[in-house]
This record gives sequence, C-alpha cells and structure tokens, in this order.
Amino acid sequence: MFDHPDFDGHQGVHIFSDAATGLQAVIAVHNTARGPSAGGTRLWSYADPKDAVTDALRLSKAMSYKNAMAGLALGGGKGVIIRPETNFDRKALFEAYGRAVETIGGSYITAEDVGVSPDDMRVIKTQTDFVAGLDEGPAASGDPSPVTAEGVFRSIKVAVRHAMGQDTLEGLTVAVQGLGHVGYGLCEHLFGAGVTLIVTDINKAVLERATSELGATVVAPDEIYAVQADVFAPCALGGAVSEATLPQIKARIIVGAANNQLATLEMGESCRQRGILYAPDYVVNAGGIINVAAEVSGHYDPNWVAGKLDELEVTIENIFNLAAKKGLPTNVIADKLARERLGL
Ligand code: NAD
Repeated sequence: MFDHPDFDGHQGVHIFSDAATGLQAVIAVHNTARGPSAGGTRLWSYADPKDAVTDALRLSKAMSYKNAMAGLALGGGKGVIIRPETNFDRKALFEAYGRAVETIGGSYITAEDVGVSPDDMRVIKTQTDFVAGLDEGPAASGDPSPVTAEGVFRSIKVAVRHAMGQDTLEGLTVAVQGLGHVGYGLCEHLFGAGVTLIVTDINKAVLERATSELGATVVAPDEIYAVQADVFAPCALGGAVSEATLPQIKARIIVGAANNQLATLEMGESCRQRGILYAPDYVVNAGGIINVAAEVSGHYDPNWVAGKLDELEVTIENIFNLAAKKGLPTNVIADKLARERLGL
C-alpha cells in the first residue's frame, strides 16, 4: 500500500468483506485536518479488485481537495463497494456496508456516488449515523446530484465568460458525456439557457429521453470527443481527458461533473498548450458535497447552500485568473491552493 502510486499519506485505508452478503468494500480516509472525512460511496464492477483500491485512494484525495476548496469543515474520504458478480440482496449488502462504516467511528461520513441512491442511504442509516444524503429526517438534504448539476452549470458560465468573453450561453453547443443523475440535470439547465446539446451515454433509454425532451443530438460513446462543440462536459466516469482523447477534442472549454477527469496530471498542461480551458473537476463538482455538508451541520439551510455555490463561482474564476497570470495549468493552481488549505 505504501508504495502504491496513488498513496498520498492517506490517514487510513480500510478493507471490508462480509461473506454472507458478498460485501467487498474499500473506504479510504485521506485527510481529516479540516474535519471528519466525507465523500460518496460508489457501487461499481471492477475487473480487478486492485482497481477498486486505486479508485478509493484517488477519489478520497480528490475529496480532501474538493472539501478544502469549497471551504467546508470536512476532510476527504471515499467508499467503494465492488459490485458482486452474481445476484445479490441489495438491502443486505448496504446493511453490511453500514456496519462497516460504523466500525471506523466517524472518521468517515458517507453519501451517494455512482450507482448508489438515497434509498441505499436509508438502509445504511439503519446501521450507522455517519451517513448523509438522506431524503428524510430533521436535516435531510436528499439526492446531492441536482446541486452538483447547478454548480457545474454555473461553472460553465464562468468558463465561457473567461475564455470567450460573453455572459450568455445562448447559441453555444455543449457536448455532454454521461446523462446520469448529474449529467441529465446539467443538460436541463443548458437547454433552458438556449444551448444546443450533443450527448452520449451507454444507456439507450436516457438518450431517447434527451432527444425527445431536450432536442439533443445523440452520438456513440467514442464519438463525443471529436464533435464540434464549444464546451465538453465529462459527466460519466474518470479519465475522459487522456492522450488518446485530447487530440480529438474540438471544444475550447472542458467543464464537467466527473471526478478525476484528467487521466494523468500532465493532461492539464496538455490542455493549456492546446488553448483549452480546463476547469478542475473537484472544484466545479462540489455542489453535492456542499449540500451534504449542510445536512451534516444538523440544520439544512438552502440559503447557505446557495451562498456556497456563489463562492464556488468566485473560486473557479480565481483559479482561471491565476493560471493565466502565471502561465500554469489550472489543475496545478487548484492543487496548490487545496494543499495550502490542507496544510500539506
Ligand atoms: P450516474 O451513475 O447517475 O451517471 C453516470 C452516467 O454515465 C450513466 O448514465 C452511465 O450510463 C453513463 N456512462 C457510464 N459509462 C459511460 C461511457 N463510457 N460513455 C458514456 N456514458 C457512460 O452518476 P452521477 O451521479 O450522475 O455522477 C456522474 C459523475 O459525476 C461521476 O464521475 C461522479 O463521481 C461525479 N460526481 C457526482 C456527484 C453527485 O452529486 N452525484 C458529485 C460529484 C461528482
């Protein structure tokens, strides 16, 4: 573990298994200097369980950076459940996971991520109080995805203003990869702002919905990079910006919800050299964790959440300006600011 390329002095890396339910999970706690670690739990199929560990290490570090940049009193952690290969009892699986979260006694607070819903959170809640993103209860904040989508939408507006000098999105084209909880919500915002949408997903039903409701043009998953668009919005999984995809990307701006969009840190410099404005993922997709933080505080206040989204816009603009001034990639600027806030 200590030699793992993604190990970054993580405070704890916890492996859980439960034969009765098929649970195999990893919870990585990166840093708790600013408060208990918080971050979503992902349920995903992994060809190799080692990839689940890598995901947890990378995603928990990104959560530390994200929470610090959003100015939250939370550290960074992430849970990954390896999707059982055979049929499984979902309730039993999440109960077992809830017991696992309980054993690390508040150093990690979980919420939703890819493949996990508020219903699953309700099951986890039967086993532990270290859970948020609930849709019932005194401070319930519900599904964080709509707030994430709003933060990404606002960030696209900031990026367009910075790179194209215009305040409106009307008439622009945005290519959206992944129409899940966040991606579809983002498309709705963009459609409302007069944007033409080009979309892709591996789920046909959601593509049909985007065509009929939002007039979106559908392309195959491997075609989304090369389409003629002003903005590329990766909203599926990580690694969308890689040596293979970047040369195809025609958009001048990359802003999306997905975590770990850059396949390697060097891709940030490659974007800069190509004149592509990349908005650091963990800054722009913080809406969901901001919403969760409101719940964790014990009193959900929508005005506080809205104020934090205003702050997010200022932060992203500041990163763009600093990057331009110093001639450095935006991801390098964001990482430096985040590490300063973490005292690293
Ligand atoms: P989701 O599972 O609801 O949606 C993901 C979508 O991507 C699905 O529709 C899926 O079919 C599609 N997809 C998967 N592989 C694809 C491929 N190769 N090409 C095209 N589409 C593909 O997840 P979500 O909650 O919308 O999250 C999307 C991304 O945003 C994830 O990377 C997640 O970690 C990140 N994120 C989500 C939140 C949140 O509030 N939900 C917050 C921060 C970051």
